Amino acid sequence: MKNTLATTTRILEDYKTKESAKHTEKILLEERLKASEVRYRRLFESAKDGILILNFFTGQIVDANPFIVKMIDSPLEEIIGKKLWEIGLFCNKEQSELAFTELKTNGYIRFENMPIQRKNGNITEVEFVSNVYLENDIKVIQCNIRDITERKLTEEALRQNEQLLSKTQKIAHIGSYNYNLTSGEIKWSDEMYNILGLQKDIFKVTIKSFINSVYPDDRSAMENWLELTKHGIDAGELDYRIVKPDGTIRYLLGTGILQNEHNSNAQHIIGSAQDITVRKNIEKELEESEQYLNEQNMKFISLNKQYLALNEKLKDGLNRLQTANADLLIEKIKADESDKLKTAFLSNMSHEIRTPMNAILGFSAFLLQPGLSSEKLKDFVQIINASSLQLMSIISDIIDISKIDAGQINIDIEEVSVNNLMGELFTTYQKIVEPKNLRLYYSCDRPSDLIRVKTDGNRVKQVLCNLLNNAIKFTKVGKIEFGFKLKGNFIEFYVSDTGIGIAPENQSIIFQRFRQVAKSNNEIYGGNGLGLSISKSLVEKLGGTLTVNSALGSGSTFTFTIPYIREEDTVSTTAIPSTSMDDRHWNDKTILIVEDEANNHFYMEEVLSDSHAVLRHAWNGKEAVEEVKEHPEISLVLMDIKMPVMDGYEATQLIKQIRPELPVIAQTAFALSHDKEHSLQAGFDNYIAKPISVDALLEVVGDYLK
Ligand code: ADP
Repeated sequence: MKNTLATTTRILEDYKTKESAKHTEKILLEERLKASEVRYRRLFESAKDGILILNFFTGQIVDANPFIVKMIDSPLEEIIGKKLWEIGLFCNKEQSELAFTELKTNGYIRFENMPIQRKNGNITEVEFVSNVYLENDIKVIQCNIRDITERKLTEEALRQNEQLLSKTQKIAHIGSYNYNLTSGEIKWSDEMYNILGLQKDIFKVTIKSFINSVYPDDRSAMENWLELTKHGIDAGELDYRIVKPDGTIRYLLGTGILQNEHNSNAQHIIGSAQDITVRKNIEKELEESEQYLNEQNMKFISLNKQYLALNEKLKDGLNRLQTANADLLIEKIKADESDKLKTAFLSNMSHEIRTPMNAILGFSAFLLQPGLSSEKLKDFVQIINASSLQLMSIISDIIDISKIDAGQINIDIEEVSVNNLMGELFTTYQKIVEPKNLRLYYSCDRPSDLIRVKTDGNRVKQVLCNLLNNAIKFTKVGKIEFGFKLKGNFIEFYVSDTGIGIAPENQSIIFQRFRQVAKSNNEIYGGNGLGLSISKSLVEKLGGTLTVNSALGSGSTFTFTIPYIREEDTVSTTAIPSTSMDDRHWNDKTILIVEDEANNHFYMEEVLSDSHAVLRHAWNGKEAVEEVKEHPEISLVLMDIKMPVMDGYEATQLIKQIRPELPVIAQTAFALSHDKEHSLQAGFDNYIAKPISVDALLEVVGDYLK
């Protein structure tokens, strides 16, 4: 019993203990519940979101926290008992009812973006989350309403920023990327796709696919750049090319930096790629045009050099042209002057020729007058003779000047006895000066020596005659002196007078062709202005010079030199005596005169008549040959050259075949030197120049008839 009691007591005790524990537990539970309610209430009251508690069955609001009261701007009393659409949530009753039904069915609804209209009509964007829960076994609905105005604004700003960024990237052709090194994921901006010509939805971006789109030659550079950037080394900007799917190549400028993700170990390379193709092309074009410009510049420089050189040449040419022009001008002036002089000369010539011609023709006519006194006859013949000589001299001058111009003046070098020549001139000119009351002197520095020189004696004589003629012409009173001196390798001849003299300014022009000191000279003194010019040319041709020393009113001295060339083996040092008139008695001789002109024949007969030689006549070469054949007594033939039927050359050759020893003397025109050479070559023994002077004819004939 005792045990039972004990057991019962123990059981009671246990029960008490258990009950007490339960009670304690209940109290604790209630306390905890209370505390939880207090906490919930506090949360409810202080929440930063709006909280509404609804009746599960009616949907009416049973409680609202201060936040929502403030949000919708209505007092709690106005909110309690209302349905959601009545406090501005949901647009209308139907929508509100539908949502409520869904909530009751699913126990949860959520609207991310829902407008709530405040009492004043303002609308606020809210996030609406509602769920059903049990409170003391009763279903209640709690709605959480969060004001998302700020978030919306931020989102909008972000969206706009993104849009701006996208637009800017598009405008600048800059794409951006984010390469997550940890995951290998790559994110590209839209522009990046554009630049690479890839479609965002189709192309899967991986590092491999990107490297593949890089131009093959630039791939290793890109890989190196990535490798450096991965290790946080600043690899700078990378210039590279990509190949778009359509095959076009674009130039890109890549940038990138390594970045660690916030709060994680993940690493990214973020950066950009800018399409710089346009810039590159412009740069390339610029480079090309710069190169082109450089080339052009070089060409220009070289052209410039050439132009400068050309310019120099042109300048040079211009200078030469100017000089030539100036020379031409001088030449022209000279030519004009010479032209004028020639015109004057022609009229002078005409005058010069007509004067003696008039005399010859006029006085020749008088000769025919019957009953002419012997005195008059003598006078007329003398006039005719003088006029003929004057005419001959004019013709000689003209021929000489033409020859000088044609460069055909021939010099026949022979041994000349200067003493003889001077003596001859003295004799001739003494006769000329006598009637003029002038004295003539001849002087020589070595009178006892016989001076012989190798020169053209005829030309020396011609020059001396010119000078003596001038001296006589320009000297009215006083004396004329001439002579020679030996001066080293030259013989110096001079002719000096006491005449009108020559002013210094005229002393050079008188040697020019057709020039006289004054135009009136010709009217006063006559002359053609050729004598000194011819003399100067002849002296120069002989190897010497002709000069003048004069003063106006005090006379003049003309001096000329010729080389003193001596014959080494002079055959004879004594003067050859000339044929004396007394020796000319050839009554045992027969001379054949061959001449087609009756006058000339008559003249020859006249000259030779005193010699008493038998004279025969032939009118042409053929007759001459016949004469020689038939008359072996013929001792000499005087042969004209130009004749009809047979000329003198042919006739002489035939005569020489018949009688080689028979002397044949040609009568040639003195002026034409080729006649002289030709005649000697043709076999003539000698020649006499026409017009034939009495002395010359007798002298030559005498030489062969001794
Ligand atoms: P021309 O005597 O036929 O006129 P020249 O050529 O012989 O031609 O002479 C040219 C000019 O030189 C002469 O006209 C004259 O004016 C001048 N003259 C030549 N010789 C003398 C001289 N002895 N005295 C003065 N003047 C002279």
